[in-house]
Amino acid sequence: MAMRYWRAAEPKRSYDVVVVGGGGHGLATAYYLARNHDLTDVCVVEKGWLGGGNTARNTTIIRSNYLWDESAAIYEHSLKLWERLEEDLGLDLRFSQRGVLNLAHDLGEMRSSLRRVNANALNGVDAEWLTPAEVAAFCPVVNVSPDVRYPVLGATLQRRGGIARHDRVAWGFASVADRLGVDIVEHCEVTGFVRSPAGRVTGVETTRGTITANKVAVVAAGHTSVLAAMVGLRLPLQSHPLQALVSVLLTPVLDCVVMSNAVHVYVSQADKGELVMGAGIDGHNSYTQRGAFHLIEEQLAAALELFPVFAHAKLLRTWGGAVRPRPVHHWSVDRRARRGGGGALTAAR
Ligand SMILES: Cc1cc2nc3c(=O)[nH]c(=O)nc-3n(C[C@H](O)[C@H](O)[C@H](O)COP(=O)(O)OP(=O)(O)OC[C@H]3O[C@@H](n4cnc5c(N)ncnc54)[C@H](O)[C@@H]3O)c2cc1C
Repeated sequence: MAMRYWRAAEPKRSYDVVVVGGGGHGLATAYYLARNHDLTDVCVVEKGWLGGGNTARNTTIIRSNYLWDESAAIYEHSLKLWERLEEDLGLDLRFSQRGVLNLAHDLGEMRSSLRRVNANALNGVDAEWLTPAEVAAFCPVVNVSPDVRYPVLGATLQRRGGIARHDRVAWGFASVADRLGVDIVEHCEVTGFVRSPAGRVTGVETTRGTITANKVAVVAAGHTSVLAAMVGLRLPLQSHPLQALVSVLLTPVLDCVVMSNAVHVYVSQADKGELVMGAGIDGHNSYTQRGAFHLIEEQLAAALELFPVFAHAKLLRTWGGAVRPRPVHHWSVDRRARRGGGGALTAAR
């Protein structure tokens, strides 16, 4: 008989906490409420299937080598949680700390990369700077020839960075939360909120009926702003399509993660053998789960310069998700990044 990771729970009419969104963050919220805070009268409602939002659409890169002091601690804490998550959940997540390279292709990027390495060091986050020769030694399939459109001038390396299998992460949180008593309800869309006469949110209206709750946590990624609008809150968030793709299965050629902001390519090789690549974001706001074809076309052209060996790889499938609900005041920075200025993508993600 097939093993079930979690029960297909029928929603009760009332809970202590309702979590809206069955992605990695919503499921982790439910898991930590149950495990760390003994709050098990919790329900996760997901409009589609678990992980079907962005959690199982991403390129699975895990790292904590971000620039800003204000966010360094939370990323590093998060990486430390990853380092013991397989043990905590009792599940093989294919977590692999194979090292993340961030390539620098011009002097501006070199300076900002070195600044990031130094900022990371000051915040106790592991980070190194590699010369082009060291990049070639660490990752022989990167073309470090100076005669390409985006020559590699060096790279930062976070050795503790890596990848994990994203859908197993969702399943792992779900299965342990379920065992601790959390109800996980898929195909249940929140369509509105129940409010007291004073305006306090006291539950959710869903496609499977009304559920009341002492607390409602909205963990719906880009759709958080859509949900907040249902209670008259306008959140300063924007969502853009971001697409990714995988190649057919190949023998192992790449045993680290390579990211290039200028080229807008980030790539790793999954344990099954597919090359997993992320592209740049579409410029417009949208919640579609697909991106524009020309972005992938440009990205692959640039990727082939960086990785000539990939010329033999055939594309298997592409998909999209929404990224970076972000404060609107970052918009001008993003626009510069889209014009090739770099920086904002890495800094924001
Ligand atoms: C192509 C791509 C590549 C990426 N690559 C990386 C990467 O390499 N590394 C990295 O760290 N991050 C990456 N990201 C970002 C990462 O995927 C997200 O930050 C992460 O998945 C967000 O998790 P979440 O649980 O907040 O959101 P989601 O996984 O999107 O979960 C939110 C859930 O809410 C549900 N929902 C929405 N509205 C409702 C409603 N009304 N009622 C009920 N449920 C609702 C959705 O169906 C969804 O399942 C990438 C994203 C994309 C799209």
